[in-house]
Amino acid sequence: MSERKHALVTGGSRGIGSEIVKVLLSEGYEVWSLSRTTGEDAENLHYISCDMADRSSVEAALEAVVKQAGTVDVLVNNAGITRDGLIMRMKDEAWDEVLSVNLTSVFLTCRRISRLMATQRRGAIINISSVVGIMGNGGQTNYAASKAGIIGFSKSLARELSGRNVRVNVVAPGFIETAMTDALSQTLKEQIATQIPLGRIGKAEEVAQTVAFLASEKASYITGQVLAVDGGMAM
Ligand code: NDP
Repeated sequence: MSERKHALVTGGSRGIGSEIVKVLLSEGYEVWSLSRTTGEDAENLHYISCDMADRSSVEAALEAVVKQAGTVDVLVNNAGITRDGLIMRMKDEAWDEVLSVNLTSVFLTCRRISRLMATQRRGAIINISSVVGIMGNGGQTNYAASKAGIIGFSKSLARELSGRNVRVNVVAPGFIETAMTDALSQTLKEQIATQIPLGRIGKAEEVAQTVAFLASEKASYITGQVLAVDGGMAM
């Protein structure tokens, strides 16, 4: 039997992240998930408590993963937050927190885990951006900056790591049904759906399946790409 592959997922406690964990487990991976709230460990699933906004917490969690896992084949940077507001009233904290959870954490995980992957001479990194990082969105300058930052970061990293057989890609979800979008009223959701070419809001599992594809050998010749999973919103 071939050796079980190891995956590290940030923000695997709920929403899109927990679907990514579920799909990777079903594909035979052993998975480590980093988030502030943690679930019960299960077979091949390990939760590590971590605040992605806190550099020392991220670094400690990464060392714990490296110690337990030894190797990491797949890294998925999914943890993300919104702190929306118009620019003229946006507080420093709303800017700093979003940039730190959504973008600086991606730098920290990629810096540590790429060292392992470069030595292994194999690996796949998938960073979760958003259509907002491609199209922009009023009231989300902080979020859009963090998500567009992920795209530039990932393309650069893809170029840096290509010689080590490490692929780096971005998944840009559109409007997906999770806690992040639950805050919106039903009327607003229906209105948004009319602006999506496929005519409906997406499911977390649809994002997770795309992540699993990019992680797999089926995507062995794909690197530096941004794949929108958005029902056609950003085309
Ligand atoms: P949720 O709010 O449902 O889940 C967010 C995840 O991130 C949770 O697991 C949460 O864990 C984790 N997280 C948030 N803050 C921190 C933190 N400081 N430290 C550690 N973990 C943290 O969001 P979604 O599932 O909807 O979003 C997942 C990703 O997809 C995000 O990057 C988001 O920007 C992106 N996305 C989502 C879209 C959507 O429509 N839902 C659209 C486009 C992109 P915990 O709270 O336990 O720490």
